[in-house]
Amino acid sequence: MNIKTLRQAWLMKAINILRHDFSQIGETFPEEIHILVEYHKFAPPGWLGSYVEDGDHHSIYISPIVDGLVALVILVHELIHASVQENHSERFYAVSKAIGLNDGALAGPEEVLLERFHEVEQILGMYPEEA
Ligand SMILES: [Zn+2]
Repeated sequence: MNIKTLRQAWLMKAINILRHDFSQIGETFPEEIHILVEYHKFAPPGWLGSYVEDGDHHSIYISPIVDGLVALVILVHELIHASVQENHSERFYAVSKAIGLNDGALAGPEEVLLERFHEVEQILGMYPEEA
């Protein structure tokens, strides 16, 4: 398996772990979400991730240049979009705060969420890196 496939599989498992964290704050996101560790075709400079909904098909794109911890921060940010089905709305920021991301992620995760990310790394092993 190449690095992209390994990372996508790792992030899919992380989603299944994080689903529990969302349910604890009363939030859910679609059962099936496709993960792509690649640039989204409309990615602007500095882009890190996107949530894309096309009918019943839900996809999260994660930048291929970020490390595991940043990938998890982006993943949670995009899962909030998948959960609230809204852009950076008031509700988006409310859920973001509840899950432990400051200001929708860009200020970084709260201590509790950071610990949770370290747990994810303990369960899954470290995010696959380029050899
Ligand atoms: Zn966003």
